[in-house]
Amino acid sequence: MAGEIDGANLLAKSLKEQGVKYAFGVVGIPVLETSVALQQTGIKFIGMRNEQAAAYAAQAIGYLTQTPGVCLVVSGPGVLHTLGGLANAQSNCWPLIVVGGSCDRPLEELGAFQETQQVESTRLFTKFAARPQTLQRIPSYVEKAVKLATYGRPGACYLDFPRDLLNSVIAESEIVYPKQLPPPPVSVAPQSEINRALDLLRKAERPLVIVGKGAAYARAEKNVNDFIRATDLPYLPTPMGKGVVPDDHPNCVSPARSLSLQKADVVLLLGARVNWMLHFGQPPRFNPNVKIIQVDVVPEEFHQNIPTEVALAGDVNAISAQLVETLANSKLQFSKQSTWWADLQKKIELNKKSVEAFVKDTSPPLNYYATLSTIQELIPEDSIIVNEGANTMDIGRTVLLNRQPRHRLDAGTYGTMGLGYGFAIAAALRCQEEGLGKRVVCVQGDSAVGFGGMEIETMFRYKLPVISIIINNNGIYGGLDQDVWNDIRGGNVADLALTSPPNCLTPNCRYDKLADMCGGQGFYCETIDQLKDALKAAVQETNKPTIINVMISSSAQRKQQDFDWLTRSKI
Ligand code: ADP
Ligand code: MG
Repeated sequence: MAGEIDGANLLAKSLKEQGVKYAFGVVGIPVLETSVALQQTGIKFIGMRNEQAAAYAAQAIGYLTQTPGVCLVVSGPGVLHTLGGLANAQSNCWPLIVVGGSCDRPLEELGAFQETQQVESTRLFTKFAARPQTLQRIPSYVEKAVKLATYGRPGACYLDFPRDLLNSVIAESEIVYPKQLPPPPVSVAPQSEINRALDLLRKAERPLVIVGKGAAYARAEKNVNDFIRATDLPYLPTPMGKGVVPDDHPNCVSPARSLSLQKADVVLLLGARVNWMLHFGQPPRFNPNVKIIQVDVVPEEFHQNIPTEVALAGDVNAISAQLVETLANSKLQFSKQSTWWADLQKKIELNKKSVEAFVKDTSPPLNYYATLSTIQELIPEDSIIVNEGANTMDIGRTVLLNRQPRHRLDAGTYGTMGLGYGFAIAAALRCQEEGLGKRVVCVQGDSAVGFGGMEIETMFRYKLPVISIIINNNGIYGGLDQDVWNDIRGGNVADLALTSPPNCLTPNCRYDKLADMCGGQGFYCETIDQLKDALKAAVQETNKPTIINVMISSSAQRKQQDFDWLTRSKI
């Protein structure tokens, strides 16, 4: 009836009023009408193939745009399939709003269709999980979800919508939409603490700046670059902190990561936690006497695993600006002639040399370094790189360069594998919608691609020209060569562990043929020249995805490492 609105349209309108631009999901009862309502408000809705991938896509949009993406899913299994995505967003401190349909309230506790304790199930992995009880309250619940997803430490929220609520109607005159929330308030650190931080860095013999994905999220690039330029300090990006300062900046010490961490006496942490990714700040990976200056929006993050010498609570962009402004009156210029820079440079050269032979060795079966270096050489410089898999990601992090912030999306704090295509879809969609003119290059291991492979169909449907590169070593960490596989599978080997090794996938599996199902083109490459041709063709193709399946040696490895990455022990 005229002047009336139903729950589905009310929800869509509330999201639109709060600035949501993108939604991803898998539709069905009871959210089909909601997906159409979203489209009618002008929110871009992408129909995905799996809820997990939809949750990954929505959170990548949140990270890239500072506005939460919505993941719309059906009741029961639909909501439960987003739990991994919610946990990943929460772990990465990225905004995300999952919207789940649920069964009719009058049927609850009767064994209704897909009846599940959805709010309770999502609560562990969210900042806010709730169900509006009336239609009038929907706009304020949406406002609260957007606020909790983006204010303070960004994170995940869940909103639950019973079918009867979505289908019931109310007079529009009874609805009040809150105004769109302003961006999160920005707090700065007291000047006295800024001065203490700079004094500590001035006195340091072996200072180091670590740039985390908090700095990337906060769009601190200009101020962090100004700070590095003014001080000449060495800096190390975390995996997704890459590109805030360009990877090829002369002060980047990524190739001497272990040494820089181990020896630094003062570390300035810009939006990075002292968790497993930074080895808990503990020896032998860190200097036992290291002094930490930490910038974080969350005070509870300080003194985590290691005391914080100077705690700068607030927005990393604003605090970086304070640091730069203070330098105008009191210089801090670390000498490039220092022993510390000399030691770092020496190590950088040494480490670069140690992989040279691998890079040059382009004989098949290919190794990681030759393969990834060729990719690096042939993709556009400003590509957004999605990267996951075990060695594919770790080596990819060192070989695939980022020169701009938020141009790397990977397994992140939660170490999630299988998020690649969800992330790639979000990044490519944004490029398409906002006319950014950039390519998305998704470099995954053959195991990682398996988790969300059917999203290839989604990419074709929406004409997203993702360059999907599968680094295929026949398994998880590596598998078996075709001939060995045939031998043990065809022979009378009694040992099940031998005939079905859990880490092995089908040798030389033709993942490239996934393109055929949608009328696209896939490339199967065993040689470097085949890879080069495939990459050139993929870069030319701007209307649909291209799949490049590169065979590498099933026993290809990383270069020798000094430390076991997960534990604190020396290898
Ligand atoms: P990395 O994986 O790069 O080490 P983490 O995800 O561990 O980064 O840490 C990012 C940190 O950045 C989190 O502790 C988060 O609270 C913080 N953060 C997020 N947004 C901001 C912001 N605007 N200002 C300051 N810190 C922020
Ligand atoms: Mg593999």
